[in-house]
Amino acid sequence: MSLNENWKNIQREVYQKNPNAKIIAVSKTYPTEIIEQAISIGIFSFGENKIREGIQKFLVLKEKGLQFELHHIGPLQTGTLRKLFGLFSYTHGVGSISSLKELSKQSEKQKHSLAFFLQVNLTEEPQKNGFSRKQLLELLPNIQNYETEFLKWEGLMTMGPTNEDLDLTRTVFSELNQIRKDYCPHKKLSMGMSADYEIALEEGADILRIGSKIFGKR
Ligand SMILES: *Cc1c(COP(=O)(O)O)cnc(C)c1O
Repeated sequence: MSLNENWKNIQREVYQKNPNAKIIAVSKTYPTEIIEQAISIGIFSFGENKIREGIQKFLVLKEKGLQFELHHIGPLQTGTLRKLFGLFSYTHGVGSISSLKELSKQSEKQKHSLAFFLQVNLTEEPQKNGFSRKQLLELLPNIQNYETEFLKWEGLMTMGPTNEDLDLTRTVFSELNQIRKDYCPHKKLSMGMSADYEIALEEGADILRIGSKIFGKR
């Protein structure tokens, strides 16, 4: 199927379940020409998991005068996060206090707006980025200390288990939604990818990060 058809189908499916949901088209590994085509059919929000790759591809498009909103969706590294400012509008992978501190510091230094999602690792897989439930609940009462004039906390992000067990995926998404209800009811939930976005929508997702279902297999 074509990019255009994929996009129409995904939109129809998603908006039927939640008319206010937002779809981020995850363009990692896809070349600039495909992204340009995506912009031409009306896709606006894109996701890249590597800062350097995102800059390489999207700076060219910005210089061409094209309009888009860029999300960083991968784990955030303290050493490189300063490069986010200016081109990226959101980062979804804030998973440690040290990266949060650095984000805060850089936002005041660079004076470019950025919004962030705290990544929560509810499956507690050691190889996965993110705060445990306990770490998150300790952080939330102090989260405003990290916000600045330029840096705003947008919500929570999570990923299903690496083994793609759909029952466990639902449990994880539902648990994140419950944390939101209990501790930050006005914040957004970023969860759901090509394999599990339907479940994510049913469990309260506001923002979906979808790649291969839009662009085709990588
Ligand atoms: C790649 C990626 C996605 C999209 O994955 P698809 O399976 O292609 O939809 C979503 N979120 C993150 C963090 C990713 O790295």
